[in-house]
Amino acid sequence: MAEHESLEFGKADFVLLDNVSMEEFMSNLKLRFEKGRIYSYIGEVVVSVNPYRAMNIYGRDTIEQYKGRELYERPPHLFAIADAAYKAMKRRNKDTCIVISGESGAGKTEASKYIMQYIAAITNPNQRAEVERVKNMLLKSNCVLEAFGNAKTNRNDNSSRFGKYMDINFDFKGDPIGGHINNYLLEKSRVIFQQPGERSFHSYYQLLKGAPDSLLRSLHIQRDPTAYNYIKVGGQIKSGINDGADFKAVADAMKVIGFTGDEIQTVYKILATILHLGNLTFGVDGDVTLIENTKLVSVIRELLSTKEENVEKALLYRTVATGRDVIEKQHTTQEASYGRDALAKAMYERLFCWIVGRINDIIEVKNYDARVHGKNTVIGVLDIYGFEIFQNNSFEQFCINYCNEKLQQLFIQLVLKQEQEEYQREGIPWKHIDYFNNQIIVDLVEQQHKGIFSVLDEACMNVGKVTDEVFLQGLNGKLAKHAHYTSRKCRTLAVSKVKIPNNKDTLFQDFKRLLYNSSNPVLKGMWPEGKLSITEVTKRPLTAATLFKNSMISLVENLACKEPYYVRCIKPNDVKSPLLFEQERCRHQVEYLGLLENVRVRRAGFAYRQTYPRFLQRYKMISEFTWPNHDLPSDKDAVKRLLQGCGFDHDVAYGKTKVFIRTPRTLFSLEEQRVEMV
Ligand code: ADP
Ligand code: MG
Repeated sequence: MAEHESLEFGKADFVLLDNVSMEEFMSNLKLRFEKGRIYSYIGEVVVSVNPYRAMNIYGRDTIEQYKGRELYERPPHLFAIADAAYKAMKRRNKDTCIVISGESGAGKTEASKYIMQYIAAITNPNQRAEVERVKNMLLKSNCVLEAFGNAKTNRNDNSSRFGKYMDINFDFKGDPIGGHINNYLLEKSRVIFQQPGERSFHSYYQLLKGAPDSLLRSLHIQRDPTAYNYIKVGGQIKSGINDGADFKAVADAMKVIGFTGDEIQTVYKILATILHLGNLTFGVDGDVTLIENTKLVSVIRELLSTKEENVEKALLYRTVATGRDVIEKQHTTQEASYGRDALAKAMYERLFCWIVGRINDIIEVKNYDARVHGKNTVIGVLDIYGFEIFQNNSFEQFCINYCNEKLQQLFIQLVLKQEQEEYQREGIPWKHIDYFNNQIIVDLVEQQHKGIFSVLDEACMNVGKVTDEVFLQGLNGKLAKHAHYTSRKCRTLAVSKVKIPNNKDTLFQDFKRLLYNSSNPVLKGMWPEGKLSITEVTKRPLTAATLFKNSMISLVENLACKEPYYVRCIKPNDVKSPLLFEQERCRHQVEYLGLLENVRVRRAGFAYRQTYPRFLQRYKMISEFTWPNHDLPSDKDAVKRLLQGCGFDHDVAYGKTKVFIRTPRTLFSLEEQRVEMV
């Protein structure tokens, strides 16, 4: 609770509302937004509303105001929660994580950047060169990832089209010494297709706009994006994005991070290859499928450093093993187009993963000896796509929504369930609060054999015979009895048309072999599995759904063993306006983020808790009964005596091992008294 904020700005912490109702919640949120107070708390959870305008609240002076302070001492801010996570890490040796959620355009990525900037600003007071280097890398990596993983969508001009979890590692002094990035499910369908009004990934437009003529000439590329089928939808869009300047910034960032000249050139060659691929067309002559624009094949061959015949062959034929024989089967024009698009998507996705991998190689902690340096602790920052429901929802939306169900489940588990369970454990009276436990929906999606992913995988096994109808029949058959399969609560299933090919998503081995056989070592290195010949490729590769499910399960396991901090982002309107607070739109978000339930639990509960010995350790100087030592039968009695003496007895509860303090104000005043005494 921010003491010095006047009520004219509404309640800084929703826990302090007079009544916990949706109406009051919404009017407080609106009031604060209109007064330019974009951050609020629910206990320790930050609620953020996208201001859609530059706010003067992220500068050096603001950072100083939050550094080392307690959460409730200053007005709500991202910096406060970043500091809390940092303090927990430094003082208590805890691994922590900051989970940022909200829908597309709600401000997650901006929030994650401010958090990183804050951490960078408050660490390394001694200006150690190695630490500065690491910090610089961590910040620069953002710029590169955004170029290749972000795109302009109808909801957000700089929308992240991948999920990102970044660990920052700290040494015993609390200074960053490295990091690691996990990326999730790049929306690769964007490589070949965009909705009207949207663009492909920034990287393409940056290259076309910002590259010097000589580079474009060597790539056989012209500047006009509308000349390329794969990106022309977005080529006509006017936006505030400065692609030319960004091209240079990204190139510089790649150099600083440590990408070699050859690597950077290869990146450009891959982008150019994909653009050329998109312009390839196929035709027939008698019963022979052929490529109509053969000049492009030469260009692609040159860019990929492969043999010309091999490019053509990989595009037109597919090697299949039938029993002991290996035969070459000609594609129909339709199959050839499918193969071409699959190649384009796979090359881009592989490029992106390779970039992440290269960054990881460089920022990863090396030579850290815990026996010498003490425990290496971690702060993780998760910035991952929020719920998406469109007119037409594809497999990717389904995965995104499943991911959000899973994160919501974690939130429920950690914040709500944990809270209730702790009170029970401590023997403190507790009024049960009903909340929607969405584990049931998570199960519906991920259960072995009968979950949606399983049914989908099964459908995909029947190669050739699978249609979307078969899949739907399978689902209806297996899940009809599930209470939530058809219910409206199950947002995830707002996906009616999960397209099978997206899940199957096979790239013919011929393409992998083609790229592996490139004489460009960087490109070759991206495709190690191209080494296998057709007869060696026996194992069915895991489907995209299974891969994604596994990555989500391990993400959640990873988060669950860290001390979590939450930022809940809200998008005030759909028109990017700084003035408009669309009541209905916001209410909907508050609802599905479960914020009201969050307030109820917080209110029923206590803002602060601490074990008796630790509490005494910190506050014993306040009371004559406890300073310097107490002679009471137990620490619990001593804490009771101390708090009675201060007149706070009414605001606390005494559990079996911990003291619980209801309002932050009490703690604040204890802190003040303590400061006076020391
Ligand atoms: P998300 O990652 O949730 O999709 P972003 O973080 O990319 O959303 O934010 C979308 C846009 O909203 C940004 O490009 C920026 O214009 C604006 N925005 C978000 N947060 C802030 C902020 N704290 N201050 C000013 N503008 C913001
Ligand atoms: Mg984002």
